[in-house]
Amino acid sequence: MNPIVFAIPVFMAFVGLEAWLAWRRGLKVYRLHDALTSINIGAMSETIRALLKLLSLAVYAVVVERVGAFSWDLKSPWVWVLAFFMYDFFYYWAHRSGHEVNLLWAAHVVHHSSEDYNLSTALRQSSTNQVFYWLFYLPMAIVGIPVTVFVVIALISVVYQFWSHTQLVGKLGWADRVFVTPSNHRCHHGRNDYCLDKNYGGTLIIWDRLFGTYVAERDDEPVVYGTLVPLQSWNPLWGNLKNYVGIWRQVRGTAGWSNKLMRVFAPPGWGNADAPAPALPSAASISRFDTPALKWQHVYGLLASAVIFGLLFNLLIVAQSLSVPQRAAYAAVLVLNAVGMAWVFEGKRWALGFEALRAALVFGALAAGLWFGPVSLPAQVAALFALALSWGMLALARGERAKLGWPLAGVAA
Ligand SMILES: [Zn+2]
Ligand SMILES: [Zn+2]
Repeated sequence: MNPIVFAIPVFMAFVGLEAWLAWRRGLKVYRLHDALTSINIGAMSETIRALLKLLSLAVYAVVVERVGAFSWDLKSPWVWVLAFFMYDFFYYWAHRSGHEVNLLWAAHVVHHSSEDYNLSTALRQSSTNQVFYWLFYLPMAIVGIPVTVFVVIALISVVYQFWSHTQLVGKLGWADRVFVTPSNHRCHHGRNDYCLDKNYGGTLIIWDRLFGTYVAERDDEPVVYGTLVPLQSWNPLWGNLKNYVGIWRQVRGTAGWSNKLMRVFAPPGWGNADAPAPALPSAASISRFDTPALKWQHVYGLLASAVIFGLLFNLLIVAQSLSVPQRAAYAAVLVLNAVGMAWVFEGKRWALGFEALRAALVFGALAAGLWFGPVSLPAQVAALFALALSWGMLALARGERAKLGWPLAGVAA
C-alpha cells in the first residue's frame, strides 16, 4: 500500500489546525482559492506519481541489482545513516538544479507558484519533476543502497519538509543553521532580492552553508512569497505546464543551436539581459493574484475537492492492480476534475457548462456502476443526489455570476 494514503489525512488535519490557529491569532495566511489550488496541485502530483513512480523505482532496483558496488545489511544502522546523508546531499543538488537549470525549473516552479505561505503550500508539488529527479539519486543505487532503505529515507524527507512551510513558527536559533526550518525555508520561497536561489536543503541546511547558498531570514525585510514571474492562475494543469510552453517559445525565437540549447539548460532568464528586469517587490508593494471570492463557488470548491480526494484515495489503493491504460484514464479524469474547479474559480466563460457535464459524467458513471463495479440502490441514489447538489450549487454560482459579471478578470489584492 502506498504510504502517502496514510500521510494525506494527517497532512490535511495539520492544514486545518494551522488555518484555525492563524485565524485565532488574527493572521491572514490562508486564502481559500489559493489553498484549494495547492491541494489540487498536490492531488494531481500524487496521481501522476502513481503512474510514474513504479517505473523509476524499477530502474533504481535494476541498477542496485546489476551495478550495486556493495551489498548492505538492512539491519545495520550504518546503512540508514549513510543513506540519509547521501539522500539529503543529492536532494540539495537536485533541488539546486531545479532552480538553476531552466528545464528543471519548468518542473519545479509550480511548488513556488503560491503567493501565500502555509502548510498547504507544502502539498503544491510538481507533477513533472518525477520525470527527471530520480536520476540525481542513481549514485545511491550504484553504491548499492537497497530499494527499501531508499524509499523509507525519501519518505522521511518528504514528511520532514512539510512542517517547514509555515509562518506560525518563528526563528529557532541554532536549529536554523543546522536543519531546514520554517525560517530558512520561508527565505527559499521568497522573491525578495536577498532570497533568490538560496536555502535549497531538504532536511539539513548544512549543504547550503557548505556550498555558499545559505541566507538567514531578515527581520527588517519581510519575505514576499512567490516567483518573479507570477503564475496568475488557479489552474493546476497550467501551473505545471506554463514554463515548458515558455521554454518552447524561447527556443523557437532563438537563432543558432548552441543558443537554443542554452535556453533549455542555462539558468532561467538566460539571454534576457537586455530585457528590463522584473521589478523586485518590497513588502510594501505586495500584489497577489486573486479572483473574487463568491460564497457558492467556495462551497462548490470544497465539495469538488472532497470528490477529487475520494478518487485519489481510491486510485492510490487500486493503482497496482490497474493496467497502464486504466491508470492513465483514471489520472485523466482526476486532472479534468481539478481543472474544472480552477475554471470555476477563475470565472471562465465555459466553466459552468464544463462542470455540469463533468459532474454528470462522474456521478452518472458511479450510479451506473461503470466505475467501482455494480453498486447498491442506496449508493446509486446517493450518487444521483450528489449530482443534483452539484448542479444546484452551479446554478447558485450562476446567480452570483450574473450579479458580478463573468468572466471575472483576475485582480490583484
Ligand atoms: Zn525550490
Ligand atoms: Zn517549499
